[in-house]
Amino acid sequence: MKALAVDLGGSHAACALVADREVVAVEEVSLEAAHGLAFALPRIADALRRAASRAGGSPTDCAGLAFGFCGLVDSVAGRVLSTNAKYDDAPSLDLPAWCRESLGLPLRLENDARLALLGERHAGAAQGEDDVVMMTLGTGVGGVAMIGGRLLRGKHFQAGVLGGHLVADFEGRPCTCGGVGCVEAEASTWALPALCRATPGFDASPLAGCEPLDFEAVFARAEEGDTVAVAVRERCLRVWAAGAVAMIHAWDPEVLVIGGAVMRHAAAVVSAVEAHVHRHAWTPWGQVSVRAAALGERAALLGAVPLLEGA
Ligand SMILES: [Zn+2]
Repeated sequence: MKALAVDLGGSHAACALVADREVVAVEEVSLEAAHGLAFALPRIADALRRAASRAGGSPTDCAGLAFGFCGLVDSVAGRVLSTNAKYDDAPSLDLPAWCRESLGLPLRLENDARLALLGERHAGAAQGEDDVVMMTLGTGVGGVAMIGGRLLRGKHFQAGVLGGHLVADFEGRPCTCGGVGCVEAEASTWALPALCRATPGFDASPLAGCEPLDFEAVFARAEEGDTVAVAVRERCLRVWAAGAVAMIHAWDPEVLVIGGAVMRHAAAVVSAVEAHVHRHAWTPWGQVSVRAAALGERAALLGAVPLLEGA
Protein backbone atom coordinates (compact mmCIF):
# COMPACT_ATOMS: atom_id res chain seq x y z
CA MET A 1 0.00 0.00 0.00
CA LYS A 2 1.08 3.58 -0.76
CA ALA A 3 0.03 6.35 1.58
CA LEU A 4 0.58 10.04 2.14
CA ALA A 5 1.71 10.94 5.64
CA VAL A 6 2.03 14.16 7.65
CA ASP A 7 3.87 14.43 10.95
CA LEU A 8 3.05 17.88 12.31
CA GLY A 9 5.28 19.34 15.01
CA GLY A 10 5.42 22.77 16.58
CA SER A 11 7.90 24.24 14.12
CA HIS A 12 7.68 22.05 11.04
CA ALA A 13 5.74 19.37 9.20
CA ALA A 14 7.26 16.31 7.54
CA CYS A 15 5.12 15.50 4.49
CA ALA A 16 5.82 12.16 2.81
CA LEU A 17 4.83 9.45 0.44
CA VAL A 18 5.37 6.06 2.05
CA ALA A 19 5.11 2.57 0.62
CA ASP A 20 4.66 -0.12 3.26
CA ARG A 21 7.87 0.03 5.34
CA GLU A 22 9.70 2.69 3.33
CA VAL A 23 9.58 6.50 3.26
CA VAL A 24 9.87 6.99 -0.52
CA ALA A 25 9.95 10.81 -0.58
CA VAL A 26 9.68 13.44 2.13
CA GLU A 27 9.29 17.22 2.01
CA GLU A 28 9.90 19.29 5.14
CA VAL A 29 7.88 22.48 5.63
CA SER A 30 8.86 25.12 8.21
CA LEU A 31 5.84 26.40 10.12
CA GLU A 32 4.91 28.63 13.04
CA ALA A 33 2.39 26.92 15.31
CA ALA A 34 1.27 30.39 16.46
CA HIS A 35 0.02 31.15 12.93
CA GLY A 36 -2.47 28.30 13.22
CA LEU A 37 -3.27 25.19 11.24
CA ALA A 38 -5.56 26.86 8.67
CA PHE A 39 -2.55 28.91 7.56
CA ALA A 40 -0.38 25.77 7.35
CA LEU A 41 -2.75 23.46 5.44
CA PRO A 42 -2.21 24.84 1.89
CA ARG A 43 1.55 24.57 2.36
CA ILE A 44 1.17 21.01 3.68
CA ALA A 45 -0.96 20.05 0.66
CA ASP A 46 1.65 21.54 -1.71
CA ALA A 47 4.43 19.61 0.05
CA LEU A 48 2.44 16.35 -0.20
CA ARG A 49 1.93 16.91 -3.95
CA ARG A 50 5.68 17.55 -4.33
CA ALA A 51 6.52 14.37 -2.38
CA ALA A 52 4.15 12.31 -4.55
CA SER A 53 5.60 13.84 -7.69
CA ARG A 54 9.17 13.11 -6.59
CA ALA A 55 8.08 9.50 -6.07
CA GLY A 56 6.89 9.46 -9.68
CA GLY A 57 3.13 9.70 -9.06
CA SER A 58 0.28 11.79 -7.74
CA PRO A 59 -1.69 11.86 -4.45
CA THR A 60 -4.49 9.75 -5.96
CA ASP A 61 -2.08 6.81 -6.30
CA CYS A 62 -2.34 6.59 -2.50
CA ALA A 63 -4.92 4.90 -0.28
CA GLY A 64 -5.29 8.00 1.89
CA LEU A 65 -3.56 10.54 4.10
CA ALA A 66 -2.44 9.65 7.62
CA PHE A 67 -2.13 12.89 9.60
CA GLY A 68 -0.26 12.89 12.92
CA PHE A 69 -1.23 15.87 15.12
CA CYS A 70 0.50 17.06 18.30
CA GLY A 71 -2.61 17.16 20.52
CA LEU A 72 -5.73 15.20 21.50
CA VAL A 73 -7.72 14.03 18.48
CA ASP A 74 -10.98 12.21 17.76
CA SER A 75 -9.58 9.59 15.41
CA VAL A 76 -13.07 8.38 14.40
CA ALA A 77 -14.45 11.78 13.31
CA GLY A 78 -11.06 13.11 12.18
CA ARG A 79 -11.25 16.18 14.42
CA VAL A 80 -8.74 17.78 16.75
CA LEU A 81 -10.22 17.90 20.27
CA SER A 82 -7.66 19.85 22.28
CA THR A 83 -4.34 21.56 21.67
CA ASN A 84 -1.52 22.52 24.01
CA ALA A 85 -0.45 25.99 22.80
CA LYS A 86 0.15 24.70 19.23
CA TYR A 87 -2.20 25.30 16.26
CA ASP A 88 -4.98 26.44 18.56
CA ASP A 89 -7.42 26.94 15.67
CA ALA A 90 -7.26 23.22 14.81
CA PRO A 91 -10.45 22.10 16.68
CA SER A 92 -12.52 24.41 14.44
CA LEU A 93 -11.26 22.82 11.18
CA ASP A 94 -12.89 20.07 9.11
CA LEU A 95 -9.73 18.17 8.16
CA PRO A 96 -11.45 15.29 6.28
CA ALA A 97 -13.18 17.88 4.04
CA TRP A 98 -9.88 19.72 3.48
CA CYS A 99 -8.18 16.45 2.50
CA ARG A 100 -10.97 15.42 0.10
CA GLU A 101 -11.09 18.82 -1.57
CA SER A 102 -7.36 19.52 -1.85
CA LEU A 103 -5.95 16.00 -2.40
CA GLY A 104 -8.93 13.84 -3.38
CA LEU A 105 -8.19 11.39 -0.56
CA PRO A 106 -9.73 10.08 2.65
CA LEU A 107 -8.00 11.22 5.85
CA ARG A 108 -7.16 9.38 9.06
CA LEU A 109 -6.18 11.68 11.90
CA GLU A 110 -4.27 10.40 14.91
CA ASN A 111 -2.21 11.73 17.78
CA ASP A 112 1.41 11.96 16.60
CA ALA A 113 2.81 9.80 19.42
CA ARG A 114 0.26 7.04 18.72
CA LEU A 115 1.24 7.19 15.06
CA ALA A 116 4.93 6.87 16.02
CA LEU A 117 4.15 3.75 18.06
CA LEU A 118 2.35 2.27 15.04
CA GLY A 119 5.46 3.03 12.96
CA GLU A 120 7.88 1.42 15.41
CA ARG A 121 5.64 -1.64 15.54
CA HIS A 122 5.28 -1.80 11.74
CA ALA A 123 8.89 -1.16 10.75
CA GLY A 124 11.07 -0.49 13.80
CA ALA A 125 11.94 -1.57 17.32
CA ALA A 126 8.64 -3.28 18.16
CA GLN A 127 8.03 -5.41 15.06
CA GLY A 128 6.01 -8.52 15.91
CA GLU A 129 5.01 -7.17 19.34
CA ASP A 130 1.39 -6.66 20.41
CA ASP A 131 1.84 -5.18 23.89
CA VAL A 132 3.97 -2.07 23.65
CA VAL A 133 4.44 1.22 25.45
CA MET A 134 6.42 3.99 23.77
CA MET A 135 7.98 6.91 25.65
CA THR A 136 9.17 9.91 23.67
CA LEU A 137 11.72 12.17 25.38
CA GLY A 138 12.10 15.59 23.78
CA THR A 139 10.46 19.01 23.93
CA GLY A 140 7.74 17.28 25.94
CA VAL A 141 7.42 13.69 27.12
CA GLY A 142 5.10 11.35 25.24
CA GLY A 143 3.78 8.06 26.55
CA VAL A 144 1.42 5.90 24.47
CA ALA A 145 0.16 2.35 24.69
CA MET A 146 -0.86 -0.60 22.54
CA ILE A 147 -2.57 -3.54 24.26
CA GLY A 148 -3.22 -6.82 22.45
CA GLY A 149 -2.27 -5.26 19.10
CA ARG A 150 -4.76 -2.37 19.43
CA LEU A 151 -3.89 1.23 20.16
CA LEU A 152 -5.39 2.27 23.49
CA ARG A 153 -7.73 5.20 22.75
CA GLY A 154 -10.62 5.29 25.23
CA LYS A 155 -14.02 7.01 25.26
CA HIS A 156 -12.56 10.53 25.04
CA PHE A 157 -9.53 9.51 22.93
CA GLN A 158 -7.10 10.32 25.75
CA ALA A 159 -6.49 6.82 27.12
CA GLY A 160 -2.91 5.66 26.92
CA VAL A 161 -1.68 8.90 25.38
CA LEU A 162 -0.90 11.06 28.40
CA GLY A 163 2.01 9.07 29.80
CA GLY A 164 4.11 12.22 29.97
CA HIS A 165 1.53 13.64 32.35
CA LEU A 166 1.70 10.85 34.91
CA VAL A 167 2.89 12.41 38.16
CA ALA A 168 6.52 11.96 39.16
CA ASP A 169 6.46 14.46 42.07
CA PHE A 170 3.15 15.57 43.55
CA GLU A 171 4.91 18.55 45.17
CA GLY A 172 6.72 19.36 41.96
CA ARG A 173 6.61 21.88 39.14
CA PRO A 174 3.52 23.24 37.40
CA CYS A 175 2.90 21.61 34.02
CA THR A 176 1.43 23.08 30.84
CA CYS A 177 -1.43 20.54 31.10
CA GLY A 178 -2.75 22.01 34.35
CA GLY A 179 -1.19 19.29 36.49
CA VAL A 180 1.68 19.45 38.98
CA GLY A 181 4.89 17.43 38.92
CA CYS A 182 4.15 15.56 35.68
CA VAL A 183 7.04 13.57 34.18
CA GLU A 184 7.12 16.21 31.46
CA ALA A 185 7.26 19.09 33.92
CA GLU A 186 10.12 17.42 35.82
CA ALA A 187 12.30 16.26 32.89
CA SER A 188 11.78 17.59 29.37
CA THR A 189 13.44 20.11 27.09
CA TRP A 190 10.88 22.82 27.83
CA ALA A 191 11.31 22.33 31.58
CA LEU A 192 15.10 21.99 31.47
CA PRO A 193 16.27 25.63 31.81
CA ALA A 194 14.21 26.12 34.99
CA LEU A 195 15.39 22.73 36.33
CA CYS A 196 19.00 23.67 35.77
CA ARG A 197 18.65 27.13 37.34
CA ALA A 198 17.06 25.56 40.42
CA THR A 199 20.01 23.19 40.90
CA PRO A 200 22.47 24.37 43.61
CA GLY A 201 25.71 25.68 42.10
CA PHE A 202 24.16 26.53 38.72
CA ASP A 203 25.53 30.10 38.57
CA ALA A 204 29.12 28.81 38.81
CA SER A 205 28.54 25.91 36.39
CA PRO A 206 29.53 26.03 32.71
CA LEU A 207 25.85 25.26 32.09
CA ALA A 208 25.06 28.88 33.00
CA GLY A 209 26.76 29.96 29.76
CA CYS A 210 25.08 27.39 27.50
CA GLU A 211 22.68 28.64 24.84
CA PRO A 212 20.46 26.80 24.20
CA LEU A 213 20.30 25.11 27.57
CA ASP A 214 19.17 21.72 26.26
CA PHE A 215 19.92 18.04 26.89
CA GLU A 216 22.86 18.17 24.45
CA ALA A 217 24.47 20.75 26.76
CA VAL A 218 23.59 18.85 29.93
CA PHE A 219 24.92 15.48 28.71
CA ALA A 220 28.09 17.08 27.27
CA ARG A 221 28.90 19.07 30.45
CA ALA A 222 28.09 16.00 32.59
CA GLU A 223 30.57 13.91 30.60
CA GLU A 224 33.18 16.60 31.27
CA GLY A 225 32.48 16.12 34.97
CA ASP A 226 30.50 19.24 35.84
CA THR A 227 28.69 18.31 39.05
CA VAL A 228 25.62 20.47 38.35
CA ALA A 229 25.17 18.86 34.92
CA VAL A 230 25.63 15.40 36.47
CA ALA A 231 22.97 16.20 39.08
CA VAL A 232 20.49 17.41 36.44
CA ARG A 233 21.18 14.42 34.16
CA GLU A 234 20.79 11.90 36.99
CA ARG A 235 17.57 13.52 38.22
CA CYS A 236 16.08 13.47 34.71
CA LEU A 237 17.06 9.80 34.23
CA ARG A 238 15.32 8.97 37.52
CA VAL A 239 12.18 10.90 36.51
CA TRP A 240 12.01 9.07 33.17
CA ALA A 241 12.63 5.73 34.90
CA ALA A 242 9.85 6.43 37.42
CA GLY A 243 7.56 7.39 34.52
CA ALA A 244 8.45 4.15 32.75
CA VAL A 245 7.49 2.07 35.80
CA ALA A 246 4.19 3.98 36.12
CA MET A 247 3.39 3.35 32.44
CA ILE A 248 4.26 -0.36 32.80
CA HIS A 249 2.00 -0.67 35.85
CA ALA A 250 -0.79 1.14 33.98
CA TRP A 251 -0.66 -0.65 30.64
CA ASP A 252 1.03 -4.08 31.08
CA PRO A 253 3.41 -4.06 28.10
CA GLU A 254 6.08 -6.63 27.24
CA VAL A 255 8.15 -4.02 25.37
CA LEU A 256 9.01 -0.41 26.26
CA VAL A 257 10.35 1.59 23.32
CA ILE A 258 12.08 4.90 24.09
CA GLY A 259 12.37 7.53 21.36
CA GLY A 260 12.77 11.28 20.96
CA ALA A 261 15.64 13.72 20.56
CA VAL A 262 17.18 12.79 23.93
CA MET A 263 17.92 9.37 22.43
CA ARG A 264 21.08 10.78 20.84
CA HIS A 265 22.28 9.46 24.21
CA ALA A 266 20.37 6.19 23.84
CA ALA A 267 22.83 3.93 25.64
CA ALA A 268 22.80 6.02 28.82
CA VAL A 269 19.01 6.44 28.80
CA VAL A 270 18.16 2.81 28.02
CA SER A 271 20.56 1.37 30.59
CA ALA A 272 19.32 3.70 33.36
CA VAL A 273 15.62 3.10 32.62
CA GLU A 274 16.12 -0.64 32.14
CA ALA A 275 17.94 -1.06 35.45
CA HIS A 276 15.22 0.86 37.31
CA VAL A 277 12.39 -0.99 35.56
CA HIS A 278 13.87 -4.41 36.21
CA ARG A 279 14.33 -3.51 39.86
CA HIS A 280 11.08 -1.68 40.59
CA ALA A 281 8.33 -2.74 38.15
CA TRP A 282 5.90 -5.38 39.46
CA THR A 283 5.87 -7.83 36.55
CA PRO A 284 5.75 -11.37 37.97
CA TRP A 285 5.33 -12.81 34.44
CA GLY A 286 8.89 -11.77 33.48
CA GLN A 287 10.86 -8.65 32.54
CA VAL A 288 9.82 -5.84 30.22
CA SER A 289 12.20 -5.47 27.27
CA VAL A 290 13.50 -1.86 27.18
CA ARG A 291 14.61 -0.77 23.69
CA ALA A 292 15.72 2.35 21.87
CA ALA A 293 13.41 3.42 19.04
CA ALA A 294 14.79 2.46 15.65
CA LEU A 295 13.13 4.91 13.27
CA GLY A 296 13.99 8.33 14.71
CA GLU A 297 11.97 11.18 13.21
CA ARG A 298 10.48 8.85 10.58
CA ALA A 299 8.48 6.73 13.06
CA ALA A 300 5.19 8.61 12.72
CA LEU A 301 5.44 8.67 8.91
CA LEU A 302 5.88 4.89 8.89
CA GLY A 303 2.75 4.53 11.01
CA ALA A 304 0.71 5.71 8.01
CA VAL A 305 0.14 2.34 6.36
CA PRO A 306 -1.05 0.49 9.48
CA LEU A 307 -3.28 3.46 10.41
CA LEU A 308 -4.91 3.48 6.97
CA GLU A 309 -5.25 -0.31 7.17
CA GLY A 310 -7.47 0.21 10.20
CA ALA A 311 -5.18 0.19 13.26
ZN1 LIG B 1 1.29 17.63 32.67
